[in-house]
Amino acid sequence: MLAPYASDPARTRGRRFAQSPAPTRTEFQRDRDRIVHCTAFRRLVYKTQVFLNHEGDLFRTRLTHSLEVAQLGRSMARSLQLNEDLVEAIALAHDLGHTPFGHAGQDALHACMSDFGGFEHNLQSLRVVDHLEERYPDYDGLNLCFETREGILKHCSRRNAEALERTEPPFADGQGGVGARFLLRQQPSLEAQLCNLADEIAYNAHDIDDGVRSGLIRFEQVREVPLFDRYARQALEAHPTLAQAQNARRWLYESIRLMLSDQVYDVIGATRQEIELHQPTDVHSVRKCSELLRFSTEMRSATQTLKTFLFHALYRHPQVVDTMDRAKQVVQGLFDAYIQDPQAMQSGTTQRSSAPSEMDVPRQVSDYIAGMTDRFAAREHERLTGLRLLA
Ligand code: MG
Repeated sequence: MLAPYASDPARTRGRRFAQSPAPTRTEFQRDRDRIVHCTAFRRLVYKTQVFLNHEGDLFRTRLTHSLEVAQLGRSMARSLQLNEDLVEAIALAHDLGHTPFGHAGQDALHACMSDFGGFEHNLQSLRVVDHLEERYPDYDGLNLCFETREGILKHCSRRNAEALERTEPPFADGQGGVGARFLLRQQPSLEAQLCNLADEIAYNAHDIDDGVRSGLIRFEQVREVPLFDRYARQALEAHPTLAQAQNARRWLYESIRLMLSDQVYDVIGATRQEIELHQPTDVHSVRKCSELLRFSTEMRSATQTLKTFLFHALYRHPQVVDTMDRAKQVVQGLFDAYIQDPQAMQSGTTQRSSAPSEMDVPRQVSDYIAGMTDRFAAREHERLTGLRLLA
């Protein structure tokens, strides 16, 4: 069933701590199950994607976003004969390291940590699965396979990659760890590449949905984006009643659905062409090729226009910016308070036996804040400062 260039769980490069195989599950299925059962995964339900968790019950959260990425990813993986379980594991874990309050939270935490190595959510997702989860008797983290960990680490600076490599376990094949590809300028597995695109397809689509539902952007406004207008017209041609006012929501959904399908088919078509052209024979040759998993050139540029539109119309909407400014103050306030008094970090902090050295305090504070849900962060900020910045 799997293509020769797909990741094969029977040939995984292994886990940080060796384990005997599970009797009924492949290694990647096992990773997926570990992720679903971990604490950080459950927190995703109360973390912001674009809208704060308390702003409405129907908006995407990081959890529903991750499920949508997994669904799109699995469906594309199946047609490309890639490993669906690995795609699902990476998709479900890809946002585990996100702070509360989406990108505003990450930017604020990065600024707070600028003298202490910074904060980066991809690196933090890896940190969650490698170190911060406390579930197993013999080790920290979830002890996932190399392939899953590599997929989680979507971006990484050279400096961070070098630091990571110093802590990677020796691999039996003598090759580097999850940071190596950033130093060698190589690609990750096709499953990892697929998750990156599934992520992008998912958020472009659901941000239109949430944006229109919130009233911050209008359907007519989104139709100024040629890519979206194409599907809105197609939907209307096939179903003229969608133009009736009471069908406004159905028209929006049908347009988004057509866009999702078309982007999925576009990726599958463009990727098949690339594979045909480069003829990768196994996972190793995939690494040395250019990015094989891709949109067609036409869809890539059309998608870019949509992203630019969403950036200006939605992510930079004054109402979103105002909320996010307050969210940044919350993160900054929490950071300052915990640095002054690390004891103020209560339940949920890692209770490692060894006392933290002075050096570790900023990173511990960063881990603690990054793990918070939106509402916990807002409440905790109010408890420590007496200021209520978010309703
Ligand atoms: Mg994502």
